[in-house]
Amino acid sequence: MTAKKVVVVGGGLGGLTAAALLARGGCSVTLFERSKHLGGRGQTSEVEGFRFNLGPRALARAGAGMRVLGRLGVTPQGSVPGQKGGTYALRAGRLHPLPRGPVSLLTTDLLGLAGKLELARFLGALPRVDADALENVPAREWLRTRVASEEVRDVAGALVRVASYCADLEGLSAQAAVRQLQQGLKGNVLYVDEGWGSLVTRVAAVARDAGARVEVSAKVERVVVKDGRVEGLRMGDGTVLAADAVVVAGAPGDVASLMPGDEVLEGEAAAAIPVRAATLELGLSRLPKPQALFALGIDGPWYASVHSAYAKLGPEGGAMVHVMKYLTEADAEASEAELEVVMDTLQPGWREVLVARRFRPSLVVTHLLPTAKAGGLSGRPTAKVPHVSGLYRVGDWVGEEGMLVDASFASAEVVEQALLRGERHAEPVRMAMGA
Ligand SMILES: Cc1cc2nc3c(=O)[nH]c(=O)nc-3n(C[C@H](O)[C@H](O)[C@H](O)COP(=O)(O)OP(=O)(O)OC[C@H]3O[C@@H](n4cnc5c(N)ncnc54)[C@H](O)[C@@H]3O)c2cc1C
Repeated sequence: MTAKKVVVVGGGLGGLTAAALLARGGCSVTLFERSKHLGGRGQTSEVEGFRFNLGPRALARAGAGMRVLGRLGVTPQGSVPGQKGGTYALRAGRLHPLPRGPVSLLTTDLLGLAGKLELARFLGALPRVDADALENVPAREWLRTRVASEEVRDVAGALVRVASYCADLEGLSAQAAVRQLQQGLKGNVLYVDEGWGSLVTRVAAVARDAGARVEVSAKVERVVVKDGRVEGLRMGDGTVLAADAVVVAGAPGDVASLMPGDEVLEGEAAAAIPVRAATLELGLSRLPKPQALFALGIDGPWYASVHSAYAKLGPEGGAMVHVMKYLTEADAEASEAELEVVMDTLQPGWREVLVARRFRPSLVVTHLLPTAKAGGLSGRPTAKVPHVSGLYRVGDWVGEEGMLVDASFASAEVVEQALLRGERHAEPVRMAMGA
């Protein structure tokens, strides 16, 4: 039997994982990445000795990413944040201890006694919430039905934001919000040593070792389809390649532009609302306030975290700090000054010890907000493109499982199942996570 010839378009973590899984399963795999470097949004760059991850990155320990990386023999190194130092809630420009467990809940001045009890009840009941019954319910509405006090709702809303990266709680499906909260409670997250670029390098090595050909600076121009079936693809330089299957591991717009004139794919791309964030990355020679390691906005969509306190991301004694604003469609960009104010509150004096900085006003975190209107995670496009035989997609906007990079890993696994074991198994059985 000749090996199935598969081309993967896109060399981010999703595409590399698909290439590794398929090559290990015996397919003849070629991966093309249009930019000079592998990694996509999972890239890490070195700036003045600091590892900048293109905004903060936290890997869910109970998510699909850890499961699939484990299958590839890749064990991410790093630590779980929150185990040392001060973790704060930021409200009206002031820091308060963030209620995260019984002790901080008792001691925080963020909430009064009634509020503390209500938050404890909300968090205690979370693991038993049936997320899948909430597909069509907006996260904001769900919070209104679960939490009576507005100040507790603000805290719960901030926890949804940090777990999902979504600030649009009117749009976000409560199913997705609850699954992310449950996953966070179950396993917390990992800050990865040397940044996510280290995962990119290791997954790419697994793919190559399994026989995949990986090419950078190679833009795919279009997928060649005949009679509703994939025949191959055409590269930017005009070369045509034959393939039994094509896996596009890019954005919804990338899939549509590879299939010009396909109204279904164009419609999906037009309908996808991206989730965005503004990020400020800072490399400091030292931390002005060594104990102040994390702040989460309660009355605004703010996040600041000293990632180097938990992962190797810079020179000895230095500090690598991520500041972020969660954005919405209506608020799709932020100014650097807005993010600096958050840093002024957490780490006053940071400007005097600044070594490196990088600001991005609007990055795409995930390509599709799983809305209540569209049926939550179940409403996202499937990994197999239903109307084109042999065409698949992978990404943080694909399939029913997970959000963020977990969805990229999970959809790569779905493609593996479809191509190696037959399409009968193409979509996973739905599972309530964390219950
Ligand atoms: C600020 C920020 C914070 C984040 N934080 C987290 C977090 O804490 N936890 C988490 O799980 N996730 C997080 N994410 C999301 C995570 O980074 C992404 O979900 C993940 O990296 C997506 O990987 P991917 O391979 O699916 O897509 P990408 O990394 O976007 O890769 C797609 C690749 O396809 C290539 N490509 C597209 N079209 C073509 C073509 N025609 N020819 C050749 N190549 C092509 C692109 O160049 C790109 O390299 C964050 C994202 C951002 C921006």
